[in-house]
Amino acid sequence: MPPRHHPPEALLAALSAGRGRSDRLTHSEHLPARQARYAPWPDGIRPEIVTAAQALGAELPWAHQAEAMRLAKLGQTMVIATGTASGKSLGYLAPVLSDLLDGTEAPNGRGATALYLAPTKALAADQRRRAAELVPDRVRAALYDGDTPFEEREWVRQYASYVLTNPDMLHRGILPAHPRWASFLKALKYVVIDECHSYRGVFGSHVAQVLRRLRRLCARYGSAPTFLLASATTADPAATAQRLTGLSAVAVTEDASPRGPLVFALWEPPLTENTGEHGAPVRRTATAEAGYLLTELVEKGTRTVVFVRSRRAAELVALQAQDQLGSPLSTRVAAYRGGYLAEERRSIERDLHSGKLLGLASTSALELGVDVSGLDAVLMAGYPGTRASLWQQAGRAGREAQGALAVLIARDDPLDTYLVHHPEALFATPVEATVLDPDNPHVLAPHLCAAAAELPLTESDLALFGPSTAQLLPVLERRGLLRQRSDGSWYWTRRERAADAVDLRGGGGNPVQIVEGSTGRLLGTVDAAAAHTTVHTGAVHLHQGRTYLVQDLDLETSVAVVERAEPPYSTSARDITSISVLATDSSVAWGEARLSFGSVEVTNQVVGYLRKRISTGEIMGESKLDLPPRTLRTRAVWWSVTEDQLLDAQIPFDQLPGAAHAAEHASIGLLPLFATCDRWDIGGVSVPLHPDTQLPTVFVYDGHSGGAGFAERGFQRAEQWLTATRDAIAACECRLGCPSCVQSPKCGNGNNPLDKAAAVRLLDALLAGAPSRAPDQAPGQAPGQARSRASGSESPGGESLGGENRSAAFDE
Ligand SMILES: [Zn+2]
Ligand SMILES: [Zn+2]
Repeated sequence: MPPRHHPPEALLAALSAGRGRSDRLTHSEHLPARQARYAPWPDGIRPEIVTAAQALGAELPWAHQAEAMRLAKLGQTMVIATGTASGKSLGYLAPVLSDLLDGTEAPNGRGATALYLAPTKALAADQRRRAAELVPDRVRAALYDGDTPFEEREWVRQYASYVLTNPDMLHRGILPAHPRWASFLKALKYVVIDECHSYRGVFGSHVAQVLRRLRRLCARYGSAPTFLLASATTADPAATAQRLTGLSAVAVTEDASPRGPLVFALWEPPLTENTGEHGAPVRRTATAEAGYLLTELVEKGTRTVVFVRSRRAAELVALQAQDQLGSPLSTRVAAYRGGYLAEERRSIERDLHSGKLLGLASTSALELGVDVSGLDAVLMAGYPGTRASLWQQAGRAGREAQGALAVLIARDDPLDTYLVHHPEALFATPVEATVLDPDNPHVLAPHLCAAAAELPLTESDLALFGPSTAQLLPVLERRGLLRQRSDGSWYWTRRERAADAVDLRGGGGNPVQIVEGSTGRLLGTVDAAAAHTTVHTGAVHLHQGRTYLVQDLDLETSVAVVERAEPPYSTSARDITSISVLATDSSVAWGEARLSFGSVEVTNQVVGYLRKRISTGEIMGESKLDLPPRTLRTRAVWWSVTEDQLLDAQIPFDQLPGAAHAAEHASIGLLPLFATCDRWDIGGVSVPLHPDTQLPTVFVYDGHSGGAGFAERGFQRAEQWLTATRDAIAACECRLGCPSCVQSPKCGNGNNPLDKAAAVRLLDALLAGAPSRAPDQAPGQAPGQARSRASGSESPGGESLGGENRSAAFDE
């Protein structure tokens, strides 16, 4: 059977026909084709670039590309935040390469230089190819990363004018050796930061400080480069660009590239006969549902890709579809396992294009290295975490002229459930912002050391590194890391390299190494902070889509020994958590209720774990663990209500623990909608009577020392966030709570107690006093304004055991 194109409306009608099917389709959005809008080439773009771009098919730039070029030529720091395949790179490459070409006419041939930063080596390599297409041979573009041979590095430093690297290499290799890069830095005109939405959380905060170090050295060499950023569409890209670079930025967000029509469906799998924790109803898994839909699409000859989270799930989806299809169609479905050679990838591409292959199930790894654009349908088993990835995956469907179908299949969690019932969260203006917190003292401190090692820090540098700097320098001196000289400047005192003290992508503490016992192979690392919950002895650990069982976690050596295994269960840790408020930075009254943001100390002890059957969610057993408590000083958002409010909301004291705990779980599930975090980046605690607030209080905190900006974003967008939380719980059709609303996959208390109905009443009571609902009320301090720290005594990295507040607390 040859591949057949069906109009997407017809495909969707067929999928949603039949008993109970139409209930599963919660929404369909018809995104009309978008016509391209063009603009003239801006002044200052060299004619050879224009000619080369035209030869590649861009007769005129799209309007957003032209605007990006114009801003870049003005020396304005800008961020271009438009959709997938909207030609963002031409927007910055044309001005950058034009100026580099101008620079080749300088006497030394290097009158201008540019630095390109990408989060991965593969992306940097791809960008070098693009630059070469526009200016073959005329601009000396070179990769500079861990793979660059040492004999080539000297050439790059001396002669390359366009250096493509990553933030890690800038941090460890380039900045500490800046005298050898003097002529490059002196001529540095542009810094391109590609895929800048990937610099989020702690990693993003580190990158922000690396960029400040770069700016300081450039200033010393007499240059002031313009920063050009490219981002996926997110809320407020200009603010993110500013936080990342420290410079005020202009955003280009209006996408003028053409797009084929797309029907985007939101789909919720049906409830099954199975029950999970506490008898909760369980939905068919998103992967199983994807398998059914794939089968039907392939039967119609529709070329379809399914995106799933793990390699194992990819194999399950493909197997299920092959089973259901039977011979001969079963041979037309495959799983993409990753790790293919280039020619194998090309053959998959060919087979998909020709229709020899009709269905392919894959992790997002497929996006790297295989061109699967122009398909007729894309199924996404579960929200991929961010709108950027969602649109990237959906964007694989459709060609300019023909319509295509994209289906998001909800997994059993509150965020997915909310999204399939609130299409506006996906199709209207983005609400999710890329969040980072460069002022986190745990992040800042090692960069101040690295900066001092690069060039002594002076008074004039303090503003560049942010408001915490002045407090931090004396602390670093007391720890014997920096010394202040009589001229007032700060020096690095140690013999070792300061830059080696920090891994941009690591968390606090010694990361735990994950080693495969039978081969001795190092598979990767996990942050010390996450190790107790994710790689305790007996844990099922997923790594790059493969499943392992942890044989032993040795805390002394920070090693977890694992073996490949495919147990029929997943594990989730049980723990005891307490939290104390160290300092309140901002606080706002919502009627009688109060919402606050500040520093907290979380004490957590993992005490055991549960095994849950994957296919049904049923509990198979519980085991105890003997692990020491850990403390974490971080940032949190918290809210409390009064006893009167509880009375009014008809929440008796015995329902309160379940209400607060359920509200906490759902709010953690929904925060990723507003901040680009993962549910696993944040934690929560709910306390019926908290010693610090003297009230029932729910905390949500950043899971990294010093904070990552997620809780702060929650505080800033509290009303929207908690309203979405309330709606997600209320909309769920279960009776007493389920994984789609208030149950959490990482609850330390075995999802007990949880009271769904009381949680809705509790959130209603809280939200009744929220600013937009109670406009007459005396305004409290506006969220997000006060960043001054109420307590100046907080020492970075200082560990002290707190946690005397042992009242009954429930944590996620
Ligand atoms: Zn539910
Ligand atoms: Zn919990």
